[in-house]
Amino acid sequence: MARYIGPVCKQCRREGVKLYLKGSRCVTDKCSFDRRPYVPGEQGNAKGFRKRLSDYGVHLREKQKVRRIYGILERQFRRYFQLAARKSGITGENLLQILESRLDNVIYRMGFTLSRKTARQIIRHNHILINERKVNIPSYLVNPGDVIEIKEGSRQMILIQEAMEASTDVAQHEWFEVDKDSFKGTIKSLPSREQIPLDVDERLIVEYYSK
Ligand code: SF4
Repeated sequence: MARYIGPVCKQCRREGVKLYLKGSRCVTDKCSFDRRPYVPGEQGNAKGFRKRLSDYGVHLREKQKVRRIYGILERQFRRYFQLAARKSGITGENLLQILESRLDNVIYRMGFTLSRKTARQIIRHNHILINERKVNIPSYLVNPGDVIEIKEGSRQMILIQEAMEASTDVAQHEWFEVDKDSFKGTIKSLPSREQIPLDVDERLIVEYYSK
């Protein structure tokens, strides 16, 4: 599967906001965004992030920000948008709900990893079961009732142990429940917009693709 392999921290600097793509490093003083808070490349300067954006630029940046938060390439992101537009309800909210339903995001939200990137890694390496069956596709979309589990032989992995120790805010997610002792999480429902902790304006993304 195609994926972004360039420098991750540049994406935060490009978007002018911390996207928390590197797990524990993001909350240390090694964070590139904190050290160099300006756009990478020639346009970047220490005085500010960027000149005033055009209307198109505002829409583009919001779309890119969300795409980068979830670690998705353009073609797949556009497919999710088309899927969201076909569903009943508000397209922008549908889009965020689909993105939140991805297995890599769910593993991250449940506190089994410190980043979506690490979640993708452990999924691809066959450490995850859904309803007791092996699933190694990060883009798998979960459904209400699904039970997501770290395989018994994988529970002592340092990546997972570190994340489980650090995850204290798991309880704030109402759309799933996690049993840390059994390394299992259950999807209770798909998240509503209010249950998705993301400071983005999804309407700008809808307008971007509707132009
Ligand atoms: Fe972004 Fe994390 Fe890198 Fe900081 S350390 S720039 S928050 S990915």
